[in-house]
Amino acid sequence: MKVGVLALQGDVAEHASALTDCGAHVVEVRSPGQLAGLDGLVLPGGESTTISKLLELAGLFEPLAERLAEGMPAFGTCAGMILLAVGVVDGRPDQRSFGAIDIGVRRNAFGRQVRSFEASLDVDGIGGGAPFDAVFIRAPVVERVGPGVEVLAGVDGRPVLCRQGPVLVSAFHPELSEDTRLHRLFLDTCEGT
Ligand code: GLN
Repeated sequence: MKVGVLALQGDVAEHASALTDCGAHVVEVRSPGQLAGLDGLVLPGGESTTISKLLELAGLFEPLAERLAEGMPAFGTCAGMILLAVGVVDGRPDQRSFGAIDIGVRRNAFGRQVRSFEASLDVDGIGGGAPFDAVFIRAPVVERVGPGVEVLAGVDGRPVLCRQGPVLVSAFHPELSEDTRLHRLFLDTCEGT
């Protein structure tokens, strides 16, 4: 399986190593040609305003939007979740998102803004029985969930892991946990499409 990690900014190496551990062939994506032949793409955490700008500078925004519209599986974590959402509140006015999953998010609004926190999540369908230890860093809050979106996990009644068809998003950073079950879940989607 050939899976890309958008490598303009953010937690690229951590995602690449989790995916490699799961047996995927990883391609770091910095230019449009590198989207060719991918079975899926991870959009990492970082700063969504910066990644949005770098996507445009690299000429990647439109080609990636096309691949997503064609149904390429994608896994967006934290800033990556913001980039895949239909609605973004508290973004920069020129910030763009792909609208690939029908959720509305508010940036930097989950938990205390200046610190990170961890939470143990019960996630349906990832096997193993044990909770997933999730790391949140200036995380977005999901404020609206469309009818076609499944909520796979939540914290304090807020969705933090959502899926719509081939698009999976988390408000937290699965690549920072020593637990690859969510990367495996994503690779199952890549395999199935
Ligand atoms: N606050 C960041 C943003 O708006 C996301 C933080 C993260 O990815 N850890 O893009």
